[in-house]
Formats: sequence, structure tokens, C-alpha cells
Amino acid sequence: MRLYHAAPAVRTSGRIAVENVTAHVRSAVESSGIKEGIAVVSVPHTTCGMAVNEDESGLRQDMQRLAARLLSPLADEQRFSHDCVDDNAQAHLTSILLGHSVTLPVSAAALVLGTWQSVFLIEMDGPRNRSLDIRILGE
Ligand code: ZN
Repeated sequence: MRLYHAAPAVRTSGRIAVENVTAHVRSAVESSGIKEGIAVVSVPHTTCGMAVNEDESGLRQDMQRLAARLLSPLADEQRFSHDCVDDNAQAHLTSILLGHSVTLPVSAAALVLGTWQSVFLIEMDGPRNRSLDIRILGE
């Protein structure tokens, strides 16, 4: 069993942003030399999420709109406790709903994704300099 690690930087483009990071994951798989195994892609930040879905421009907008709804301003009496700390509780809570990592198969030295699947980092408190933690494990 071998382990390859990469931590590419990702600059997110807005307060809410849907960034296709598939190329970073494919590049890590290529550099790893691992032929059969798994790729674990994790975002080490508490106001981002990870998702696998289709990179279609309308759907990217829909993902952004859904995040915007979840992050829409609340009336004073509805605000969350963490808003008293740094006013971004909804970004943390939406990150919990989305999850912070995805695991994908690696086979024949390539990332296994369906024809329409891409890997996305979803920013909810940007724009910021973020990073990904990519681990490729296998033989
Ligand atoms: Zn916070």
C-alpha cells in the first residue's frame, strides 16, 4: 500500500462559489503513480463543502442559488449562536450538510468518474485562499 499526498491551493471567486477542482484530483492521481486504489479529497476549512456532480453552467448556477438560499440573511431572532462570534454560522452549518470530503475510486491509473461527474469545492464564506487535501492510497 502506498500513499501520495498533494495540497493544491484554490482561490475561490466569490462569497458563494462553485469551483470545479477535478483537474487537481486527476493531476494528483497521475503524479502518484498509483494504479488501483482510492482518492480522498478533503477541504480543511469549516465554511466550505465538497460535492460530486455535473459541471453544466445552469446547474452550477443552481448549486450557487441553493447555497445562497441556505445562507440568506435571517431575522435577528432567528440568528444562530455562532453569529455572535464571526457572523458566519450559516456557512458552517451548510458545510456540515454538504460534507467536507469525497472519496473516489482510482482504477487503471485514472480517477473513476462518470461521464457527467466533476468534483466541486463549494465556497460559502469567500472569496478566500483555500486548499485541498488530496490523498491517493493504493498499489
Ligand atoms: Zn465562524
